[in-house]
Amino acid sequence: MNLLSKEAESAIKLLQKSGYEAYAVGGCVRDMIMGRECQDTDITTSALPEEIKEVFSSFRTVDTGIRHGTVTVIINGAPLEITTYRIEKGYSDGRHPDKVIFTPELTEDLKRRDFTVNSIAYCSEKGFIDPFAGIDDIKRKVIRCVGNPAERFTEDSLRILRGLRFSSVLGFEIEKNTAEAMRECKELLKIVSNERIFSELSKLLCGRNVREIIVSYSDILEVILPEIKGMKGFDQYNFHHIYDILNHTAAVTESIPPLPHLRFAALFHDCGKTDCFSLDEKGIGHFYSHPSVSAKKADEALLRLRSDTKTREKVVKLVKVHDTPIEESERIIKKRLRSMGDELFFDLIKLQRADTKGLAPEFHGREEHFDTLEKMAREILESEACFSLRNLKINGNDLIKEGFKGREIGTALSSALEAVIDSRIKNEKEELLSFCLKHKR
Ligand code: ATP
Ligand code: MG
Repeated sequence: MNLLSKEAESAIKLLQKSGYEAYAVGGCVRDMIMGRECQDTDITTSALPEEIKEVFSSFRTVDTGIRHGTVTVIINGAPLEITTYRIEKGYSDGRHPDKVIFTPELTEDLKRRDFTVNSIAYCSEKGFIDPFAGIDDIKRKVIRCVGNPAERFTEDSLRILRGLRFSSVLGFEIEKNTAEAMRECKELLKIVSNERIFSELSKLLCGRNVREIIVSYSDILEVILPEIKGMKGFDQYNFHHIYDILNHTAAVTESIPPLPHLRFAALFHDCGKTDCFSLDEKGIGHFYSHPSVSAKKADEALLRLRSDTKTREKVVKLVKVHDTPIEESERIIKKRLRSMGDELFFDLIKLQRADTKGLAPEFHGREEHFDTLEKMAREILESEACFSLRNLKINGNDLIKEGFKGREIGTALSSALEAVIDSRIKNEKEELLSFCLKHKR
């Protein structure tokens, strides 16, 4: 078991010395019990917001959500969220409580929390306060709602996605009644804001249990990701594939490193297949142009979910070229490095590597091919061999001196670069200039 941070300990002590109750609560206590590193400590207290501010009057405080009882206190540069015990009343919009009432009872505050594993309070003086047996559920690796699951999901449907996220990240099973209520209430996910869906989904996809979640809960995920509809049970009629599209997608997503842009690329890489299926006379399935159809769908999905632009652009580019084989040729690799940039090139190899993990086992053994591609690309980058305008031995100014103008300059530089990559000419100033003059248009 880990310990609370020094800052959290001293904040709790300070509140207690002033006569209030105070505990660490939520994710940090769960992570502490699991021996996981905790990102940020939330503290819950019987002190009212103004009283919290008085206790911490010699510290910098921020009124994060003072109306709802939250004050952020900065101790040694670390922000701590301190919230008054509260009860949430009425959720007529399925997203926010209509009313927040402060309460002197810790148990009342723990009752409003989503899952038992997130409803444990702790302070070093009193130990664990665990009225909903969250510690047992952590031991048994179970996600279970506090109270009646259907009621809790109807109050706030984001909890459905949070439950799937915790199951994916922590590797916990979802308890039967909780899972059933998730299914019963799944349509309510439509009222959750796209920003919150994107944030939860990014974490869910980066979890270690992501394969299981995609396979077992696709009916729920489809509500917020219509792009994956139809994947389940879609036979590919191809000897490479032992899985349907959904199971293949889940295997690929699990196999790629847990960074959001890579996991989203894996999730969407084949989503266009359901629109592109054809069967030839031998009974073999084909999915012509599925990469560009998948890329378009990925773009639409990430725009809708308000993804940051960088992530969206990377995902779309990766999906578009995921199925184009890369030859072990210096010329081809240089061209790819030039067109994609080195970071995305290495990401593409990761995606192609993961893609083979979702095939029948006899097609898994292409690791060597991908190792070779990575090694060749690293060598090209280290040798400073020329694959981009940056390391071409002439630039625009050299061409201006030779009488080139406007658009001619860019065109000539690109042609010269192509010729260098193709080994038709050397990357030497004289040779480059005479090439450009010869081809001047
Ligand atoms: P993370 O590791 O992602 O920070 P967390 O459990 O700390 O996970 P937070 O979103 O930081 O999650 O929320 C802190 C705590 O507040 C949760 O542990 C839970 O007790 C409670 N909580 C958060 N969101 C909800 C919600 N939508 N419904 C009920 N309780 C919630
Ligand atoms: Mg947290």
